[in-house]
Amino acid sequence: MYENPELGSEEYKVYKLLIEELEKQDFNVEKELLGIPTAFSASFKGKKSGPKIAVLAEYDALPGVGHGCGHNLIAVSAIGAGIAVSRVMKDLAGEVLVVGTPAEEGRGPSAGSKVIMADKGFWNDVDAAIMLHPATRWSVGGKALGIWQLKMEFKGQTSHAAASPEKGINALNAATLAYMATHMLRQEARRDSNLVIHGIITEGGLASNIIPDRAVCEFGIRSSDEKYLVQMVDKVEKCAEGAAIATGAKVTVTKKKLYSSMKPNIPLVKVLWQNYADQGVPVDDWMKTQEGIPMASTDFGDVSQRCPSTGSSISIGPEGTPGHSKQLADCSITKVGLDAMMIGTKALTMTMIELFAKPENLKEARSYFHSN
Ligand SMILES: [Zn+2]
Ligand SMILES: [Zn+2]
Repeated sequence: MYENPELGSEEYKVYKLLIEELEKQDFNVEKELLGIPTAFSASFKGKKSGPKIAVLAEYDALPGVGHGCGHNLIAVSAIGAGIAVSRVMKDLAGEVLVVGTPAEEGRGPSAGSKVIMADKGFWNDVDAAIMLHPATRWSVGGKALGIWQLKMEFKGQTSHAAASPEKGINALNAATLAYMATHMLRQEARRDSNLVIHGIITEGGLASNIIPDRAVCEFGIRSSDEKYLVQMVDKVEKCAEGAAIATGAKVTVTKKKLYSSMKPNIPLVKVLWQNYADQGVPVDDWMKTQEGIPMASTDFGDVSQRCPSTGSSISIGPEGTPGHSKQLADCSITKVGLDAMMIGTKALTMTMIELFAKPENLKEARSYFHSN
């Protein structure tokens, strides 16, 4: 995978490799899951029906830096853990699922495939979903930011900028006002909401002697609080409407939810955390991780809103190695990186077995999910 990195929605080679391996290990594989060409769900059933526990694989790479997010290790850990658990399923009730979730980095028609699966109800009857992600620290749980995309298209009237400015309606002025108004929202943002607003003006006129009749702004709006995020997206929309009123321009606002924030599941965090700690790795105190400031967004957030879920991070290289870099990709094939993957795979394996063997853990996870 390191040598043949495939971009999101085009992960055909690795998709085939993973499926072949799972079929060889007697998994029942549903290919092209929900019509997503490089997604799959591989199932292995136990002695009788019972809980459904999923381990998630990602396998998309990044342009220019290959597996600079280390998704190669996510894929192998997921099928490794799934296969290991399948070996003892004859003594357990339930079903282990290895779910192949392509295009996590948001590229192509399968972008954010976990969200597509969430929208189609795939995660609703899953009792627990777990996974790992390469990083430079060991940790379990933690928040992620929900993200919306918002586009403002302003329509004005062109006119000669010197001879007849009074006949023009300046769409760029409207966009600039909206851009500044959006900036000003930050001052009154709730401080515990981890609100992030980032935006650009993508169109702003064609020549300086023509009053622009079209200008476009694009924003990303993020927060760790799902409900608050929706309110803030509405406020940004109001900034666009206000700017349109002020300038006489017309505005069309398009908003789209990309990823949900991460809904924590502390009972699951505790079980997974213990299975890392038992292997002697310096895993961060999970309470501190939970209180930490979330930096990014992931489509795993949408899984966590539908079923009890938790992620974990494995340390594959020196602290300070940037994410989405060639350096991190290189870490994924060092001894340190591969050893970390094995430890992570074992933690995922032991966690799933523990959840199958002691269903009270799952009950606790389920009631936590419904009460938070
Ligand atoms: Zn990434
Ligand atoms: Zn990633």
